[in-house]
Amino acid sequence: MAKPLYRAIDGTQDFFDRDVERFDKVINFAADMFARYGYARIRTPIFEATELFSRSIGAVTDIVEKEMYTFKPGSESITLRPEGTAGTVRAYLQHGLDNQGGLVKLWYDGPMFRRERPQKGRKRQFHQIGVEAIGSADPLLDAEVITMGLRYYESLGIADVGLRLNSIGCRNEDCRPKFRRLLREAIQPNLEKYCKSCQTRFERNVLRIIDCKDENCQRLNQDLPKSYDHLCGECADHFEKVKEGVTALGGAYVVDHSLVRGLDYYARSVFEYTHGSLGAQSAIGGGGRYDGLVEELGGKETPAVGFALGVERILIALEAANACACSYPLQVYGVTQGEAAHRAMAGLLARLRAAGFSADMDYDGKSLKAQMRTANRRQALCCLILGDDELGRGEVTLKRMGEAGGQEAVSLFDSIEAVRKAVSWGV
Ligand code: AMP
Repeated sequence: MAKPLYRAIDGTQDFFDRDVERFDKVINFAADMFARYGYARIRTPIFEATELFSRSIGAVTDIVEKEMYTFKPGSESITLRPEGTAGTVRAYLQHGLDNQGGLVKLWYDGPMFRRERPQKGRKRQFHQIGVEAIGSADPLLDAEVITMGLRYYESLGIADVGLRLNSIGCRNEDCRPKFRRLLREAIQPNLEKYCKSCQTRFERNVLRIIDCKDENCQRLNQDLPKSYDHLCGECADHFEKVKEGVTALGGAYVVDHSLVRGLDYYARSVFEYTHGSLGAQSAIGGGGRYDGLVEELGGKETPAVGFALGVERILIALEAANACACSYPLQVYGVTQGEAAHRAMAGLLARLRAAGFSADMDYDGKSLKAQMRTANRRQALCCLILGDDELGRGEVTLKRMGEAGGQEAVSLFDSIEAVRKAVSWGV
């Protein structure tokens, strides 16, 4: 094989054929389910003003500090979007959706870009499906969003998705700011035992110390105060109602105080979906409430909640679950012997495709046996086998593949109807 001159950039990925079909199916399932919950679709640009992200995600976060793809082609600094919430809220404000009054539910899908160290399930260009419900603080809305994510994974055939839940409180002085102070007081005596990153987080973003993955830091963190024990009255009440709502809507969760999520804009509920097939990168999706973000971007004070699910990680989980929800088998494979039969088959397949069937054939002049092997490899539901002799008689052989098996000669005239029956009987 010739050695290629170029390879895809580290952390990016090519998708072929079945992977693309699976990918599309993952998106289509989302479109179907989210529409049932009242979400309208939105598609925003892949790049935005850099400041939109630094302002919403927070200047002292891993994403903004070291993971953004930022360019300055002219006088303006632009960034490839690392996530979808900032752009969605920007569009919500720019197009006056805040003036409609009431709750606005939007969902999106598309590529995101982060300069992370690539590994299994961690890419530099990856794809997210996200929802944003903007305009209500109702804890039942948190519960609806959280359980909709669970229902979505189930619909794809991914079982055993774990749900971690926490509340990180609000901006009120006696809530998160007070908790941050408590945390610093508890960490201070051991600060030099923490990893370098935690030592810098101490002043700048102390909450992030709680979710450090370093084993030693995790040990030191065991006795730290827990955010949900130090919420203001309103946030404590909100968290109780979110938990009740999730249970009422059939979701099982674990409260985990070490879940703080990386981005500045979160408030109150934060949650993460996990799946065992993903190894170190076990988060298959996550989200939370972001009550301050709309205001931060120039709008009125507007509560909101949403999530983002990682498509590549969903594909890994699907593979592990051997979930076949996402395969589109070929319905008909045309097998021919002889030139006239080959030409006639091309015409027959064109009629089948026009009638809505997926159909394909060999174009390499392969032997009959090799063509049958291809039909098996492509998991065709049935084969139409045509030789020049049969063509002369106006017939074609319909062979059912799979367990049902069996074959019959049918008239070329009736072949589309015969295929329809064979396929709908699930040969
Ligand atoms: P986040 O926007 O960081 O909350 O991420 C939401 C979800 O997107 C995660 O739970 C992952 O499933 C997925 N995700 C985040 N970063 C990456 C990445 N670098 N590569 C692949 N998937 C990612």
